[in-house]
Amino acid sequence: MAEKVIGIDLGTTNTCVALVEENNPLVIANKGSYDTTPSMVALAETGRRLVGFMAKRQAITNSSNTAFAFKRLIGRKFNSPEVENLRSNLPYNLVSGKNGDVRIVLRDQKYSIAELSSFILSEMKSVAEEYLGSKVTKAVVTVPAYFTDSQRQATKDSGKIAELDIIRIINEPTAAALAYGFGKDIEKRIAIYDLGGGTFDISVLDIGNGVFEVISTAGDSLLGGEDFDRRIMDWIVFNFAKENHIDLRKDKMALQRLKDISEKTKCELSTLQESEINLPFIISTGKSDPYHLKTRLTRDKLEQLTSDLVERTIRICKSSLEKSSIALSSIDTIILVGGMTRMPIVQDKVKEFFGKKPSKGVHPDEVVALGAAIQGNSLVNNDEKKEELLLLDVTSHSIGIKTSGGAFYKIIEANTTIPTSEKQIFTNVLKNQQAVKIIVFQGENSIADKNELLGEFTLTGLRPAEKGDLDIEVSFEINANGIVTVQAKDLATGKMQEITITAKSNLSDQEIKDIIQKNKDNKKITDGKSSKKETTPKT
Ligand code: ADP
Ligand code: MG
Repeated sequence: MAEKVIGIDLGTTNTCVALVEENNPLVIANKGSYDTTPSMVALAETGRRLVGFMAKRQAITNSSNTAFAFKRLIGRKFNSPEVENLRSNLPYNLVSGKNGDVRIVLRDQKYSIAELSSFILSEMKSVAEEYLGSKVTKAVVTVPAYFTDSQRQATKDSGKIAELDIIRIINEPTAAALAYGFGKDIEKRIAIYDLGGGTFDISVLDIGNGVFEVISTAGDSLLGGEDFDRRIMDWIVFNFAKENHIDLRKDKMALQRLKDISEKTKCELSTLQESEINLPFIISTGKSDPYHLKTRLTRDKLEQLTSDLVERTIRICKSSLEKSSIALSSIDTIILVGGMTRMPIVQDKVKEFFGKKPSKGVHPDEVVALGAAIQGNSLVNNDEKKEELLLLDVTSHSIGIKTSGGAFYKIIEANTTIPTSEKQIFTNVLKNQQAVKIIVFQGENSIADKNELLGEFTLTGLRPAEKGDLDIEVSFEINANGIVTVQAKDLATGKMQEITITAKSNLSDQEIKDIIQKNKDNKKITDGKSSKKETTPKT
């Protein structure tokens, strides 16, 4: 029998691992018998690495050395406004990596986000191995549908570091749809509304006869439960400062306790109308007795503090459906995924927008991992009887290039079925031009620089030619993982062009190797479109 492929939902808050046994998808409980594992990593004073519940348990007393919600930082640049905004509320420190990526500092050691994610993947791998009693080397890992190329590449890197072969990356809402439709003889159009700890996705799929076809997807990779928690934190901090003239954010332990109680209160208010917030000895200034924090938050107030966040998800749903010309009435079922969909106002707003009560037929915390396992099982040939399934996903972002005027020229549009490729002919704008610079972006803005830079490709060693005489064919490809590659060829000579990428902020192969080696050492010690396009000339 072929080796099992596990499915991992590597979430911002929680991670879940699943597999298919005898055509039956099931979640594997972790060592503490829980179905999900907190996506947290800490370094204890002894230098010991703690993952999952072990990390969560000590987060308050070791706040500056406990990393959580780091998926929000994956594939992002340290100096981006998004990271700048997140930093102010984190009890752990961030620094810039060599490539401008974000690193988290735990006890003077700098960790890349891919490395921290790899610790979670390794943990899930070992949970599965313990269950199976055999080695696991292959996994399907899910990412938010709205993840960019760089976020997907970084996720792949975390697999490499964990020495886990990620045979496919699939989108979280798509995985949820697979698990929903698996083994059911249905033919319908479904919408997956996925609001988790850090990200939001909305996808619409047509399912029937074992075919799962995504017709539209959209989202926001910085919109989730963390933002709701922060609203509560801000409210507490503001009121406390008003009363006591003290900024609670200055104290890392207070910050972690606030984060903790804010999340608990938010969850409690999904069932209660009012909740008490009680944090004795929250801060001590040394000048007077320690301060205690005691207040109450009502569900109404919470809804008021966060109404714009919920509205944002609905606006994204609206514009996504409009863009793809999907009539609301054509959607048969709305499925809620992600822990945040337990919040009553979220359910109400979804119901109001879609004009239908969302289905509660799936487990919001487990369905994504189950879908990943189903996909994994279908990708390997094994002897077990299995359902035939065909998954047709789409790219969530357009890719294109910067023209000489600075405009964004789209080459592959968002919502195109993947894998896909498009060819484009480029030419020289100057006589005897020796090189052409092609700058590739991902995004929807008509101004190239306002999108995310994927890479700059310099085609060098061009033949001497009159202006406009060269035909350089550049092909852009998005594979089934949603990852982009670019190749170039001189059509007259058939010669493939050298491509140098200069904008990647992800880890280099050497860095990945070094991290794997470092971890090993540590273990020893401790245990189409064909019109000619002109681009920016490079002379
Ligand atoms: P992710 O996939 O991003 O890890 P999850 O789907 O596990 O996220 O959702 C985690 C988020 O859901 C957290 O922000 C958590 O506080 C929130 N959450 C969990 N249960 C509830 C609840 N009962 N009410 C409101 N929010 C909840
Ligand atoms: Mg999730």
